[in-house]
Amino acid sequence: MDLSRRETLKLAGLGTAGLLMGSRDWPAALAADAPAAATPAEGTGRYEHLPLPYAFDALEPAIDARTVELHYTKHHAGYVASANGVLEQLKAAHAGGGYANVKALSRDLAFAASGVVLHNLYWRSMTPKAPPAPAGALAQQIERDFGSLAALKAHFAAAAKVVESNGWAVLAWEPVLRQLLVLQVEKHQNLTIWGCAPLLVCDVWEHAYYLKYQNRRADYVDAWMGLIDWPATAERFDRAARQA
Ligand code: FE
Repeated sequence: MDLSRRETLKLAGLGTAGLLMGSRDWPAALAADAPAAATPAEGTGRYEHLPLPYAFDALEPAIDARTVELHYTKHHAGYVASANGVLEQLKAAHAGGGYANVKALSRDLAFAASGVVLHNLYWRSMTPKAPPAPAGALAQQIERDFGSLAALKAHFAAAAKVVESNGWAVLAWEPVLRQLLVLQVEKHQNLTIWGCAPLLVCDVWEHAYYLKYQNRRADYVDAWMGLIDWPATAERFDRAARQA
């Protein structure tokens, strides 16, 4: 956001955070003077703004230094600050503040935390050094799934070029097929956080409850909460936590 727009918002009495939460390509804390480095993440309940692994100008001429600086210190830092801000609000809810805002907080958390995860990976998907071609197991997997590195690169570039509006192109490991896939992401905030392993899921489509509960989904959910297989959930948690 440029200063003039920020000032306009202040003058309008809206502040920056409230309005920016409604602007999905620019999360709330981007307008604040978000710190270039945040607190360590592991076990602290806070997301970390991981250090940029090279200098701002290291990717020149492909990506200019000013772009990298703004992207890293403002956009990426803003996602970190926003995600941590939502986590603080959720802590207050857990402590007895109530869940009246859970829908908005869930959306904001998914948007901001996915931005954190994807940006951490984005910076680490590039190197200023001339990289060698993939080798070893990755090379074999690429050969198996795409036929050649050239085909993977063509597929990835084609996908990246036609993502609608904002988004990402992603090379992903699909663990069920045990296959590499190229994906497009149009809205990373769609209530997912990348890299999360699902541990427990409740189906709230009407087919899951309508015969017994009709439109009373809340009654179904309350009943469902008494059915949870916690030992199985704990096993999934142990596996996921070991892999993290
Ligand atoms: Fe970005």
